[in-house]
Amino acid sequence: MTTKKCYLKKNRDIPFKNHHPWIFSGAINKCDTNAKVGDEIAVYDSENNFIGYGLYNPKSQIRIRLYSFDLSQPLDDNFWKRKIISAINMRIRTLPHIAFKQACRIVYSEGDGLSGLIVDRYEDYLVVQFTSYALWLKKDIIIKVLQNNCFPKGIFLRTEKHILEEEGLELTDCLIEGQEPESDIIIEENGLFYYVDIQTGQKTGFYHDQRDNRLEIRNYAKEKRCLDICTYSGGFAMNMARGLAWDITAVDISPSALNIARRNAILNGLSSIKFVQADAFSYLTEQVKKSNLYDMIVLDPPKFTHSKSSVKQALKEYIQLNTLAMQLLDRSGILVTCSCSGRILLNDFIQAVHYAGLQAKKQVRILQYRGAAIDHPIMIQCQESSYLKCLICEIEPL
Ligand code: SAH
Repeated sequence: MTTKKCYLKKNRDIPFKNHHPWIFSGAINKCDTNAKVGDEIAVYDSENNFIGYGLYNPKSQIRIRLYSFDLSQPLDDNFWKRKIISAINMRIRTLPHIAFKQACRIVYSEGDGLSGLIVDRYEDYLVVQFTSYALWLKKDIIIKVLQNNCFPKGIFLRTEKHILEEEGLELTDCLIEGQEPESDIIIEENGLFYYVDIQTGQKTGFYHDQRDNRLEIRNYAKEKRCLDICTYSGGFAMNMARGLAWDITAVDISPSALNIARRNAILNGLSSIKFVQADAFSYLTEQVKKSNLYDMIVLDPPKFTHSKSSVKQALKEYIQLNTLAMQLLDRSGILVTCSCSGRILLNDFIQAVHYAGLQAKKQVRILQYRGAAIDHPIMIQCQESSYLKCLICEIEPL
């Protein structure tokens, strides 16, 4: 079978010559007319120079995802095997053994040159997420490589709602291989234990990306009155406790997240943490009204934007949330502020935190720029793979 071809528009090919993996429809001049979802496509510039091999999806704004930039390496089974094993080996080299075995991201999409595939490990189980329809059609080889190299007892599929709209891919959560766990899954992260619900928890069940940031904040928490906003399974709050904070409140809007967070606190003997179900904005506004001050606040809200058109609105929300938090910090406080919106770049986020400081009439000093943990590598040609920003700031009165 001959590989189908696609030619890019003149002057629209630079990102792809630089190996960015997402070719949007607007950059394409012409494509084989009979190309269908999942087809392998050889991509050329307007002068017939080879750029790379990708997978096609006519229903997606990302018309082609590029995976190989080597003319002699098409996207055969061996290619997928090599990419997945390379991702696994990187984790073996860089993660502590316990993290690799217990709880980590085995494959991180663009960060591992596998745009559209996420694989997380929880003890003996793997959870996979496909955010590309075309890559989903390669699932048989992907699952086989994971089985042969990670030896899981079970592999679960978790889906994201917006994938149907963005990719035309309709999937439902299910067990795709092996068996269901017989009892609760409990993982260990930096000496703390967490129940993880891989079948109904958010995303794949846990946020591995904040692993190092959760550990780092212990260094700032001693004898502080702390707030953990958007706590999910209680991670930052429990690390505050490990850092000897004297009073901790953790807030989330989701009752099921709080249910697991409460169980985690008990599991670790940290039953003094107070858990509150509330909207972050309303809760912080209420605390400002009551002048209920804190010494340290973590803000780890969900993604505020999925599209270019909502970036401005998202920045407004970051400013609002950070302003409220700064108003609540006592004379010299610590703000750990995060953004997991890939569309918002570090400098824009810093600017949002700066505006928040001006509005709250506070001086902001960034003590640390941080990002996601090592198992979420940033592919240098794809800025979007650097989605998580975490600033540890000292906040003082003007
Ligand atoms: N800090 C967590 C991860 C947070 S993920 C950790 O370290 O694991 C974002 C969380 O924000 C989710 O638990 C979600 O339920 C919660 N959330 C979403 N919208 C919210 C809102 N308006 N107010 C409070 N929590 C919200």
